[in-house]
Amino acid sequence: MNDIYDIIIIGGGPAGISAGIYSSRAGYNTLLFENIGFGGQMMLTDIIDNYPGFPEGITGFELQEKMVKHMKKFGIKTSTSTVTKIENIDNIFIIHTDQEKYKSYSVIIATGAKHRILNIPGEKKFAAKGVSYCGTCDGPFFKDKDLIVIGGGDTALSEAIFLSKFAKSVTIIHRRDRFRAVQSLVEQANKNNKISFLFNHIATEIKGSEKVESILIKDLIKNDIYEKKIDGIFIFIGLDPNTNFIDKSLLDENNYIITDCNMQTKKNGIFAAGDVRSGTFRQIICATSNGATASEYAGKYVDELKGIAYK
Ligand code: NAP
Repeated sequence: MNDIYDIIIIGGGPAGISAGIYSSRAGYNTLLFENIGFGGQMMLTDIIDNYPGFPEGITGFELQEKMVKHMKKFGIKTSTSTVTKIENIDNIFIIHTDQEKYKSYSVIIATGAKHRILNIPGEKKFAAKGVSYCGTCDGPFFKDKDLIVIGGGDTALSEAIFLSKFAKSVTIIHRRDRFRAVQSLVEQANKNNKISFLFNHIATEIKGSEKVESILIKDLIKNDIYEKKIDGIFIFIGLDPNTNFIDKSLLDENNYIITDCNMQTKKNGIFAAGDVRSGTFRQIICATSNGATASEYAGKYVDELKGIAYK
């Protein structure tokens, strides 16, 4: 671990990639860690139709490919190691990973968030046997099948619309009487004759033998539980941040990282960008914008630390 990097970026979703583009293009010696594969949650998205510059829409996979190609053009180094701890000794960050340790003057955390689980009986047992958290990945396996989608946010609605391309029917179960999702998605789902809705309902158990065969559903108004035959259940109930390796003093009560508007965390030299930030608007465009901002202020921090004057 002899080299001291100027900027180490942890996470290769849109926030990390954007930070990588700005940092390496500005000439900072930059290393980016991504241990699963570039793209983050974009890779779980079929069509992205609100990212500027793509009026016809673009798949998450294609957008990721373009972003990574763009980043690599500026000579960034990347590693697939998993970061386990960040330490600071005499203004140098020591990044512990499952392989080696690395040093840097500053760190940008862009580790994003992962899907939540329902925690009901049968959910774990039937994971990948009818229970899924990714329509893009698993939708094509459910041609002409009856599906359940759980959740009422943008993800649940857009995934239900995607799944309806394959399935015979998609029933969205939502725990309240109205959706959290944007109106345009609600309207699209309303117009789709394969999609139906169960408001004020929750799933209480997933049943089957080898694979999912049925689900127990509770009507919260009538306080009544009944069984419905289904072939698959897709769960989209929000996200939890990937911050288990971060010092708790940097986190809010939901474990998201607190930053100011320059993406500076409570620890000098550590910045955060994208969905891992507390209170952010969780959109690709916001993540890329955060990445650029984090890179700008991480660069200024490094320049000051090295005694390089700038005006
Ligand atoms: P979300 O907005 O947090 O919505 C989660 C949904 O799951 C809510 O409807 C919530 O119900 C429900 N829920 C949470 N816990 C539950 C439980 N234990 N049992 C049953 N239902 C539960 O999450 P998301 O839809 O994944 O979206 C995350 C972020 O990504 C959002 O900021 C969203 O705007 C963004 N996103 C954007 C796009 C796009 O722009 N195209 C697409 C996907 C996601 P309540 O409503 O009752 O709380």
